[in-house]
Amino acid sequence: MKANEILRRIPAVEQLVMHLQRQNRANWLDHENTVKALRTAISEFRQLAQRGDVESTLAQEQVLEWIIRRYWETAELVVEQSLKKVINATGVVLHTNLGRAPLCMRARQQVMTVMEGYSNLEYDLESGGRGERYSHVEKRLIELTGAEAALVVNNNAAAVMLALGGIARGKEVIVSRGELVEIGGAFRIPDVIRQSGAVLVEVGATNKTHIQDYERAINPATAAILKVHTSNFAVVGFTGQPEMAELCQLAHANNLVVINDVGSGTLQPLEVQGTAEPTVQECIAAGFDIVTFSGDKLLGAGQAGLLAGKKCYIEALKKEPLLRALRIDKLSLAALEGTLTEYATGAANEMIPGWSMLHASPPQLKEKALKTMECMRLLGDYGWRVGVVQTSSLAGGGSLPGVELAGYGVEVAPLGASAASVAKRLRSGKTPIVCLVRDNALIFDVRCMLPGDDDVLAERLLQIVAGKLA
Ligand SMILES: *Cc1c(COP(=O)(O)O)cnc(C)c1O
Repeated sequence: MKANEILRRIPAVEQLVMHLQRQNRANWLDHENTVKALRTAISEFRQLAQRGDVESTLAQEQVLEWIIRRYWETAELVVEQSLKKVINATGVVLHTNLGRAPLCMRARQQVMTVMEGYSNLEYDLESGGRGERYSHVEKRLIELTGAEAALVVNNNAAAVMLALGGIARGKEVIVSRGELVEIGGAFRIPDVIRQSGAVLVEVGATNKTHIQDYERAINPATAAILKVHTSNFAVVGFTGQPEMAELCQLAHANNLVVINDVGSGTLQPLEVQGTAEPTVQECIAAGFDIVTFSGDKLLGAGQAGLLAGKKCYIEALKKEPLLRALRIDKLSLAALEGTLTEYATGAANEMIPGWSMLHASPPQLKEKALKTMECMRLLGDYGWRVGVVQTSSLAGGGSLPGVELAGYGVEVAPLGASAASVAKRLRSGKTPIVCLVRDNALIFDVRCMLPGDDDVLAERLLQIVAGKLA
Protein backbone atom coordinates (compact mmCIF):
# COMPACT_ATOMS: atom_id res chain seq x y z
CA MET A 1 0.00 0.00 0.00
CA LYS A 2 2.69 2.44 1.09
CA ALA A 3 4.93 1.34 -1.75
CA ASN A 4 2.21 2.04 -4.25
CA GLU A 5 1.72 5.49 -2.84
CA ILE A 6 5.35 6.41 -3.25
CA LEU A 7 5.43 4.98 -6.76
CA ARG A 8 2.80 7.51 -7.69
CA ARG A 9 5.24 10.27 -6.73
CA ILE A 10 7.69 9.27 -9.48
CA PRO A 11 7.69 12.11 -12.00
CA ALA A 12 7.03 11.47 -15.69
CA VAL A 13 10.12 11.05 -17.84
CA GLU A 14 9.38 14.21 -19.80
CA GLN A 15 9.18 16.16 -16.56
CA LEU A 16 12.59 14.80 -15.56
CA VAL A 17 14.03 15.73 -18.97
CA MET A 18 12.75 19.27 -18.48
CA HIS A 19 14.26 19.35 -15.02
CA LEU A 20 17.63 18.35 -16.48
CA GLN A 21 17.34 21.07 -19.11
CA ARG A 22 16.69 23.66 -16.42
CA GLN A 23 19.76 22.51 -14.48
CA ASN A 24 22.63 24.65 -15.60
CA ARG A 25 24.89 21.70 -16.25
CA ALA A 26 26.40 20.22 -19.39
CA ASN A 27 24.70 16.97 -20.32
CA TRP A 28 26.74 14.96 -22.78
CA LEU A 29 24.04 12.37 -23.46
CA ASP A 30 21.67 12.94 -26.36
CA HIS A 31 17.89 12.85 -25.85
CA GLU A 32 17.57 9.15 -26.52
CA ASN A 33 20.33 8.17 -24.10
CA THR A 34 19.11 10.68 -21.52
CA VAL A 35 15.67 9.05 -21.56
CA LYS A 36 17.25 5.59 -21.34
CA ALA A 37 19.37 6.57 -18.33
CA LEU A 38 16.38 8.22 -16.64
CA ARG A 39 14.30 5.08 -17.17
CA THR A 40 17.07 3.01 -15.58
CA ALA A 41 17.18 5.38 -12.59
CA ILE A 42 13.37 5.22 -12.29
CA SER A 43 13.34 1.46 -12.39
CA GLU A 44 16.04 1.31 -9.69
CA PHE A 45 13.98 3.62 -7.52
CA ARG A 46 10.88 1.53 -8.17
CA GLN A 47 12.66 -1.65 -7.07
CA LEU A 48 13.90 -0.01 -3.89
CA ALA A 49 10.44 1.29 -3.12
CA GLN A 50 8.80 -2.06 -3.71
CA ARG A 51 11.27 -3.71 -1.36
CA GLY A 52 10.38 -1.05 1.19
CA ASP A 53 13.94 0.34 1.10
CA VAL A 54 12.78 3.93 0.57
CA GLU A 55 11.33 6.23 3.22
CA SER A 56 7.62 6.26 2.51
CA THR A 57 7.50 9.88 3.61
CA LEU A 58 9.58 11.10 0.65
CA ALA A 59 7.90 14.01 -1.09
CA GLN A 60 7.61 14.15 -4.87
CA GLU A 61 10.44 16.72 -4.97
CA GLN A 62 12.75 14.36 -3.05
CA VAL A 63 11.89 11.45 -5.31
CA LEU A 64 12.77 13.64 -8.28
CA GLU A 65 16.08 14.61 -6.69
CA TRP A 66 16.92 10.97 -6.00
CA ILE A 67 16.30 10.00 -9.62
CA ILE A 68 18.19 13.01 -10.99
CA ARG A 69 21.19 12.27 -8.74
CA ARG A 70 21.19 8.66 -9.88
CA TYR A 71 20.91 9.89 -13.47
CA TRP A 72 24.10 11.94 -13.19
CA GLU A 73 25.97 9.01 -11.65
CA THR A 74 25.01 6.89 -14.67
CA ALA A 75 25.88 9.66 -17.12
CA GLU A 76 29.35 10.03 -15.53
CA LEU A 77 29.93 6.31 -15.96
CA VAL A 78 29.06 6.49 -19.65
CA VAL A 79 31.90 8.89 -20.31
CA GLU A 80 34.37 7.50 -17.81
CA GLN A 81 37.48 6.36 -19.67
CA SER A 82 39.14 3.08 -18.90
CA LEU A 83 42.58 4.25 -20.03
CA LYS A 84 43.62 6.80 -17.43
CA LYS A 85 46.53 8.89 -16.36
CA VAL A 86 48.27 7.08 -13.51
CA ILE A 87 50.81 8.44 -11.05
CA ASN A 88 53.90 6.24 -11.14
CA ALA A 89 55.30 6.11 -7.60
CA THR A 90 57.14 2.83 -8.19
CA GLY A 91 60.46 4.35 -9.25
CA VAL A 92 60.56 2.14 -12.38
CA VAL A 93 61.21 4.56 -15.21
CA LEU A 94 60.20 2.51 -18.27
CA HIS A 95 57.40 0.57 -16.58
CA THR A 96 55.84 -1.57 -19.30
CA ASN A 97 52.57 -1.96 -17.40
CA LEU A 98 52.33 1.80 -16.95
CA GLY A 99 52.85 2.68 -20.60
CA ARG A 100 56.67 2.81 -20.73
CA ALA A 101 58.22 6.14 -21.71
CA PRO A 102 56.47 9.42 -20.90
CA LEU A 103 56.61 11.70 -23.95
CA CYS A 104 58.58 14.92 -24.14
CA MET A 105 56.83 18.21 -24.85
CA ARG A 106 57.88 18.34 -28.48
CA ALA A 107 56.50 14.85 -29.11
CA ARG A 108 53.19 15.75 -27.44
CA GLN A 109 52.91 18.89 -29.52
CA GLN A 110 53.67 16.99 -32.69
CA VAL A 111 50.99 14.40 -31.86
CA MET A 112 48.49 17.23 -31.30
CA THR A 113 49.38 18.88 -34.59
CA VAL A 114 48.97 15.70 -36.55
CA MET A 115 45.86 14.38 -34.83
CA GLU A 116 43.77 17.52 -35.08
CA GLY A 117 43.15 17.19 -38.78
CA TYR A 118 44.92 16.12 -41.91
CA SER A 119 48.64 15.74 -42.45
CA ASN A 120 51.12 14.92 -45.18
CA LEU A 121 51.43 11.40 -43.74
CA GLU A 122 51.67 9.77 -47.17
CA TYR A 123 51.64 12.84 -49.36
CA ASP A 124 54.61 14.41 -51.05
CA LEU A 125 54.10 18.14 -50.75
CA GLU A 126 56.64 18.90 -53.46
CA SER A 127 55.28 16.71 -56.20
CA GLY A 128 51.69 16.89 -55.01
CA GLY A 129 51.45 13.11 -55.23
CA ARG A 130 51.74 10.03 -53.12
CA GLY A 131 54.47 10.07 -50.50
CA GLU A 132 55.86 7.59 -47.99
CA ARG A 133 55.00 7.60 -44.28
CA TYR A 134 58.49 6.32 -43.43
CA SER A 135 60.15 9.33 -45.03
CA HIS A 136 59.28 11.62 -42.10
CA VAL A 137 61.80 10.06 -39.75
CA GLU A 138 64.22 8.29 -42.06
CA LYS A 139 66.56 11.21 -42.63
CA ARG A 140 66.77 11.99 -38.95
CA LEU A 141 67.40 8.35 -38.05
CA ILE A 142 70.17 8.17 -40.63
CA GLU A 143 71.80 11.27 -39.15
CA LEU A 144 71.47 10.04 -35.59
CA THR A 145 72.53 6.43 -36.08
CA GLY A 146 75.05 6.70 -38.89
CA ALA A 147 73.15 4.01 -40.82
CA GLU A 148 72.53 4.19 -44.58
CA ALA A 149 68.78 3.75 -44.26
CA ALA A 150 66.02 3.33 -41.70
CA LEU A 151 62.46 2.10 -41.39
CA VAL A 152 59.89 2.19 -38.61
CA VAL A 153 57.12 -0.26 -37.77
CA ASN A 154 54.59 -0.90 -35.03
CA ASN A 155 57.01 -2.10 -32.35
CA ASN A 156 60.34 -3.83 -31.96
CA ALA A 157 58.77 -7.29 -31.96
CA ALA A 158 57.42 -6.42 -35.41
CA ALA A 159 60.80 -5.04 -36.47
CA VAL A 160 62.54 -8.32 -35.56
CA MET A 161 59.85 -10.35 -37.27
CA LEU A 162 60.02 -8.22 -40.43
CA ALA A 163 63.82 -8.39 -40.57
CA LEU A 164 63.90 -12.16 -40.12
CA GLY A 165 60.98 -12.78 -42.48
CA GLY A 166 62.43 -10.55 -45.16
CA ILE A 167 65.99 -11.82 -44.89
CA ALA A 168 65.75 -15.42 -43.81
CA ARG A 169 62.31 -16.87 -44.59
CA GLY A 170 62.74 -20.57 -45.29
CA LYS A 171 66.41 -20.38 -44.36
CA GLU A 172 68.50 -20.72 -41.23
CA VAL A 173 69.27 -18.09 -38.62
CA ILE A 174 72.08 -18.67 -36.14
CA VAL A 175 71.55 -17.45 -32.55
CA SER A 176 73.66 -17.95 -29.43
CA ARG A 177 72.02 -20.07 -26.70
CA GLY A 178 72.83 -17.28 -24.28
CA GLU A 179 70.60 -14.93 -26.24
CA LEU A 180 67.40 -16.96 -26.70
CA VAL A 181 65.60 -14.56 -24.44
CA GLU A 182 62.04 -14.06 -23.35
CA ILE A 183 61.23 -10.39 -23.07
CA GLY A 184 57.87 -10.87 -21.39
CA GLY A 185 54.40 -10.57 -22.80
CA ALA A 186 55.04 -13.81 -24.74
CA PHE A 187 57.89 -12.38 -26.84
CA ARG A 188 60.37 -15.21 -27.07
CA ILE A 189 63.10 -15.16 -29.65
CA PRO A 190 62.61 -18.82 -30.73
CA ASP A 191 58.88 -18.15 -31.25
CA VAL A 192 59.46 -14.97 -33.22
CA ILE A 193 61.94 -16.75 -35.47
CA ARG A 194 59.42 -19.54 -36.07
CA GLN A 195 56.68 -16.99 -36.80
CA SER A 196 58.88 -15.22 -39.32
CA GLY A 197 59.29 -18.44 -41.27
CA ALA A 198 63.01 -18.72 -40.57
CA VAL A 199 64.65 -21.75 -38.97
CA LEU A 200 66.47 -21.30 -35.69
CA VAL A 201 69.92 -22.82 -35.29
CA GLU A 202 71.17 -22.58 -31.70
CA VAL A 203 74.86 -22.43 -31.00
CA GLY A 204 77.14 -22.27 -27.96
CA ALA A 205 76.13 -22.62 -24.33
CA THR A 206 74.02 -20.47 -22.04
CA ASN A 207 77.01 -18.70 -20.53
CA LYS A 208 79.54 -18.83 -23.37
CA THR A 209 79.41 -18.77 -27.13
CA HIS A 210 82.62 -18.60 -29.14
CA ILE A 211 83.07 -17.26 -32.64
CA GLN A 212 83.93 -20.83 -33.72
CA ASP A 213 80.49 -21.97 -32.56
CA TYR A 214 78.91 -19.59 -35.04
CA GLU A 215 81.40 -20.52 -37.72
CA ARG A 216 80.74 -24.24 -37.43
CA ALA A 217 76.99 -23.75 -37.82
CA ILE A 218 77.28 -21.94 -41.15
CA ASN A 219 76.11 -24.00 -44.12
CA PRO A 220 74.51 -23.28 -47.52
CA ALA A 221 71.06 -22.95 -45.90
CA THR A 222 72.22 -20.19 -43.55
CA ALA A 223 70.87 -16.72 -44.30
CA ALA A 224 71.67 -14.71 -41.22
CA ILE A 225 73.25 -14.39 -37.80
CA LEU A 226 71.06 -12.77 -35.17
CA LYS A 227 72.40 -11.15 -32.03
CA VAL A 228 69.88 -10.36 -29.29
CA HIS A 229 70.47 -7.99 -26.41
CA THR A 230 69.89 -9.77 -23.10
CA SER A 231 67.58 -7.00 -22.00
CA ASN A 232 66.11 -8.22 -18.78
CA PHE A 233 68.73 -10.36 -17.14
CA ALA A 234 72.45 -10.39 -16.57
CA VAL A 235 74.67 -13.42 -17.05
CA VAL A 236 77.52 -13.11 -14.58
CA GLY A 237 80.61 -15.15 -13.84
CA PHE A 238 82.26 -17.32 -16.49
CA THR A 239 80.64 -15.76 -19.53
CA GLY A 240 81.49 -14.59 -22.99
CA GLN A 241 80.19 -13.64 -26.40
CA PRO A 242 82.25 -12.67 -29.44
CA GLU A 243 82.92 -8.97 -29.97
CA MET A 244 80.29 -7.35 -32.16
CA ALA A 245 82.77 -6.49 -34.92
CA GLU A 246 84.14 -10.05 -34.89
CA LEU A 247 80.64 -11.46 -35.39
CA CYS A 248 79.94 -9.03 -38.23
CA GLN A 249 83.22 -9.93 -39.95
CA LEU A 250 82.42 -13.62 -39.78
CA ALA A 251 78.95 -13.03 -41.24
CA HIS A 252 80.23 -10.89 -44.08
CA ALA A 253 83.08 -13.29 -44.91
CA ASN A 254 80.36 -15.88 -45.46
CA ASN A 255 77.94 -13.60 -47.31
CA LEU A 256 75.46 -13.67 -44.46
CA VAL A 257 73.30 -10.87 -43.16
CA VAL A 258 74.00 -9.95 -39.56
CA ILE A 259 71.16 -8.56 -37.49
CA ASN A 260 71.23 -7.10 -33.98
CA ASP A 261 68.08 -6.80 -31.87
CA VAL A 262 69.38 -4.30 -29.30
CA GLY A 263 66.01 -4.16 -27.53
CA SER A 264 65.78 -0.84 -25.79
CA GLY A 265 68.39 0.70 -28.03
CA THR A 266 69.80 4.04 -27.07
CA LEU A 267 70.96 6.88 -29.28
CA GLN A 268 73.26 8.29 -26.64
CA PRO A 269 75.63 6.59 -24.20
CA LEU A 270 74.12 5.30 -21.00
CA GLU A 271 76.28 3.79 -18.34
CA VAL A 272 75.23 3.27 -14.76
CA GLN A 273 77.36 1.46 -12.19
CA GLY A 274 79.55 -0.07 -14.84
CA THR A 275 76.65 -1.45 -16.90
CA ALA A 276 76.40 0.18 -20.30
CA GLU A 277 73.67 -0.14 -22.86
CA PRO A 278 74.99 -0.56 -26.41
CA THR A 279 74.21 2.48 -28.55
CA VAL A 280 72.67 1.99 -31.95
CA GLN A 281 75.58 3.96 -33.45
CA GLU A 282 78.08 1.48 -31.97
CA CYS A 283 76.20 -1.45 -33.48
CA ILE A 284 76.08 0.18 -36.91
CA ALA A 285 79.77 1.05 -36.68
CA ALA A 286 80.59 -2.53 -35.68
CA GLY A 287 79.14 -3.64 -39.01
CA PHE A 288 75.62 -4.90 -38.33
CA ASP A 289 73.49 -4.88 -41.48
CA ILE A 290 70.26 -4.32 -39.59
CA VAL A 291 69.80 -3.05 -36.03
CA THR A 292 66.32 -3.18 -34.49
CA PHE A 293 65.15 -1.37 -31.35
CA SER A 294 62.08 -0.06 -29.53
CA GLY A 295 60.62 3.42 -29.74
CA ASP A 296 59.10 3.54 -26.27
CA LYS A 297 61.96 2.33 -24.12
CA LEU A 298 65.14 4.40 -23.70
CA LEU A 299 64.45 6.33 -26.87
CA GLY A 300 61.52 7.96 -25.06
CA ALA A 301 58.87 8.03 -27.80
CA GLY A 302 55.62 6.12 -28.23
CA GLN A 303 55.27 2.51 -29.29
CA ALA A 304 57.38 1.90 -32.38
CA GLY A 305 59.95 -0.48 -33.76
CA LEU A 306 62.95 0.99 -35.52
CA LEU A 307 65.22 -0.62 -38.07
CA ALA A 308 68.47 1.05 -39.05
CA GLY A 309 70.95 -0.46 -41.45
CA LYS A 310 72.23 -1.01 -44.97
CA LYS A 311 70.19 0.54 -47.72
CA CYS A 312 69.86 -2.66 -49.79
CA TYR A 313 68.28 -4.57 -46.89
CA ILE A 314 66.04 -1.76 -45.68
CA GLU A 315 64.79 -1.23 -49.25
CA ALA A 316 64.07 -4.96 -49.55
CA LEU A 317 62.15 -4.92 -46.26
CA LYS A 318 60.08 -1.96 -47.51
CA LYS A 319 58.79 -4.25 -50.26
CA GLU A 320 57.73 -7.03 -47.88
CA PRO A 321 53.93 -7.50 -47.92
CA LEU A 322 54.15 -8.14 -44.18
CA LEU A 323 55.16 -4.50 -43.69
CA ARG A 324 51.58 -3.38 -44.29
CA ALA A 325 50.40 -5.48 -41.34
CA LEU A 326 53.14 -4.08 -39.12
CA ARG A 327 52.96 -0.46 -40.13
CA ILE A 328 53.26 2.35 -37.65
CA ASP A 329 50.27 4.55 -36.86
CA LYS A 330 50.45 8.28 -37.57
CA LEU A 331 50.20 9.30 -33.91
CA SER A 332 53.12 7.07 -32.92
CA LEU A 333 55.02 8.37 -35.91
CA ALA A 334 54.37 11.95 -34.81
CA ALA A 335 55.55 11.15 -31.27
CA LEU A 336 58.66 9.52 -32.71
CA GLU A 337 59.50 12.47 -34.94
CA GLY A 338 59.05 14.95 -32.09
CA THR A 339 61.27 12.86 -29.82
CA LEU A 340 64.01 12.35 -32.40
CA THR A 341 64.12 16.10 -32.85
CA GLU A 342 65.26 16.47 -29.24
CA TYR A 343 68.23 14.21 -29.98
CA ALA A 344 69.09 16.44 -32.92
CA THR A 345 68.97 19.57 -30.73
CA GLY A 346 71.25 17.91 -28.18
CA ALA A 347 68.69 18.50 -25.43
CA ALA A 348 67.53 14.90 -24.99
CA ASN A 349 68.85 14.60 -21.43
CA GLU A 350 66.86 17.59 -20.21
CA MET A 351 63.81 17.37 -22.46
CA ILE A 352 62.99 13.66 -22.60
CA PRO A 353 61.38 12.75 -19.27
CA GLY A 354 62.80 9.21 -19.11
CA TRP A 355 66.35 10.51 -19.41
CA SER A 356 66.01 13.14 -16.71
CA MET A 357 64.39 10.54 -14.44
CA LEU A 358 67.24 8.08 -15.05
CA HIS A 359 69.83 10.75 -14.42
CA ALA A 360 68.20 12.30 -11.36
CA SER A 361 70.88 12.29 -8.65
CA PRO A 362 70.23 11.04 -5.11
CA PRO A 363 70.53 14.58 -3.65
CA GLN A 364 67.97 15.87 -6.18
CA LEU A 365 65.65 12.98 -5.40
CA LYS A 366 66.06 13.51 -1.67
CA GLU A 367 64.99 17.10 -2.09
CA LYS A 368 62.00 16.03 -4.18
CA ALA A 369 61.05 13.47 -1.52
CA LEU A 370 61.27 16.11 1.21
CA LYS A 371 58.99 18.37 -0.81
CA THR A 372 56.52 15.55 -1.36
CA MET A 373 56.59 14.72 2.34
CA GLU A 374 55.88 18.35 3.11
CA CYS A 375 52.66 18.09 1.04
CA MET A 376 51.61 15.18 3.25
CA ARG A 377 52.29 16.73 6.63
CA LEU A 378 48.58 16.79 7.59
CA LEU A 379 48.57 13.00 7.64
CA GLY A 380 50.47 13.26 10.92
CA ASP A 381 47.37 14.73 12.56
CA TYR A 382 45.68 11.37 12.05
CA GLY A 383 48.55 9.43 13.54
CA TRP A 384 49.96 8.29 10.21
CA ARG A 385 53.75 8.20 10.24
CA VAL A 386 55.43 9.93 7.30
CA GLY A 387 59.14 9.96 6.54
CA VAL A 388 61.72 10.12 3.78
CA VAL A 389 63.43 6.83 2.96
CA GLN A 390 66.11 5.59 0.60
CA THR A 391 64.87 3.49 -2.28
CA SER A 392 66.32 1.42 -5.04
CA SER A 393 64.56 1.09 -8.34
CA LEU A 394 65.04 -0.16 -11.88
CA ALA A 395 65.30 1.46 -15.28
CA GLY A 396 62.83 -1.09 -16.67
CA GLY A 397 61.88 -1.49 -20.31
CA GLY A 398 64.61 -4.02 -20.92
CA SER A 399 67.42 -1.62 -20.16
CA LEU A 400 70.22 -1.74 -17.61
CA PRO A 401 69.31 -5.22 -16.36
CA GLY A 402 70.30 -5.83 -12.77
CA VAL A 403 71.22 -2.19 -12.14
CA GLU A 404 69.61 -0.74 -9.03
CA LEU A 405 69.12 3.01 -9.15
CA ALA A 406 69.58 4.60 -5.76
CA GLY A 407 66.84 7.09 -5.00
CA TYR A 408 64.46 8.45 -2.42
CA GLY A 409 60.82 8.12 -1.58
CA VAL A 410 58.25 8.98 1.05
CA GLU A 411 57.23 6.21 3.40
CA VAL A 412 53.74 6.40 4.87
CA ALA A 413 52.72 4.03 7.65
CA PRO A 414 48.94 4.14 8.03
CA LEU A 415 47.20 3.87 11.37
CA GLY A 416 44.12 1.69 11.69
CA ALA A 417 44.30 0.40 8.14
CA SER A 418 46.60 -1.99 6.33
CA ALA A 419 49.04 -0.54 3.82
CA ALA A 420 47.70 -2.94 1.20
CA SER A 421 44.15 -1.68 1.66
CA VAL A 422 45.29 1.94 1.37
CA ALA A 423 47.31 1.05 -1.75
CA LYS A 424 44.19 -0.50 -3.20
CA ARG A 425 42.18 2.65 -2.55
CA LEU A 426 44.94 4.74 -4.12
CA ARG A 427 44.52 2.71 -7.28
CA SER A 428 40.85 3.65 -7.45
CA GLY A 429 39.71 7.19 -8.00
CA LYS A 430 40.10 9.68 -10.79
CA THR A 431 43.90 9.58 -11.02
CA PRO A 432 45.07 6.22 -9.75
CA ILE A 433 48.38 6.13 -7.87
CA VAL A 434 50.61 3.06 -8.11
CA CYS A 435 53.14 2.69 -5.31
CA LEU A 436 55.07 0.04 -3.41
CA VAL A 437 54.05 -1.68 -0.20
CA ARG A 438 56.73 -2.85 2.22
CA ASP A 439 56.46 -3.90 5.88
CA ASN A 440 52.91 -2.56 6.18
CA ALA A 441 53.97 0.85 4.89
CA LEU A 442 53.43 2.57 1.56
CA ILE A 443 56.50 3.76 -0.32
CA PHE A 444 56.16 6.51 -2.86
CA ASP A 445 59.37 6.54 -4.88
CA VAL A 446 59.62 10.08 -6.25
CA ARG A 447 61.88 9.37 -9.23
CA CYS A 448 59.06 9.09 -11.79
CA MET A 449 56.60 11.49 -10.19
CA LEU A 450 55.80 14.41 -12.48
CA PRO A 451 55.26 18.03 -11.42
CA GLY A 452 51.95 18.33 -9.59
CA ASP A 453 51.73 14.61 -8.80
CA ASP A 454 52.75 15.27 -5.18
CA ASP A 455 49.72 17.49 -4.56
CA VAL A 456 47.32 14.99 -6.12
CA LEU A 457 48.86 12.21 -4.05
CA ALA A 458 48.66 14.17 -0.80
CA GLU A 459 45.07 15.18 -1.44
CA ARG A 460 44.03 11.60 -2.16
CA LEU A 461 45.74 10.31 0.98
CA LEU A 462 43.97 12.95 3.03
CA GLN A 463 40.64 11.97 1.54
CA ILE A 464 41.32 8.36 2.49
CA VAL A 465 42.51 9.13 6.01
CA ALA A 466 39.70 11.61 6.72
CA GLY A 467 37.05 9.35 5.21
CA LYS A 468 38.29 6.48 7.26
CA LEU A 469 38.13 8.22 10.59
CA ALA A 470 34.91 10.13 9.86
C1 LIG B 1 61.70 -5.02 -25.51
C2 LIG B 1 62.40 -5.91 -26.44
C3 LIG B 1 61.72 -6.40 -27.57
C4 LIG B 1 60.30 -6.08 -27.86
O1 LIG B 1 60.14 -4.73 -28.15
P1 LIG B 1 58.69 -4.08 -28.25
O2 LIG B 1 58.95 -2.69 -28.76
O3 LIG B 1 58.11 -4.11 -26.89
O4 LIG B 1 57.91 -4.90 -29.21
C5 LIG B 1 62.43 -7.22 -28.43
N1 LIG B 1 63.70 -7.56 -28.19
C6 LIG B 1 64.38 -7.11 -27.11
C7 LIG B 1 65.79 -7.54 -26.90
C8 LIG B 1 63.75 -6.26 -26.20
O5 LIG B 1 64.39 -5.80 -25.13
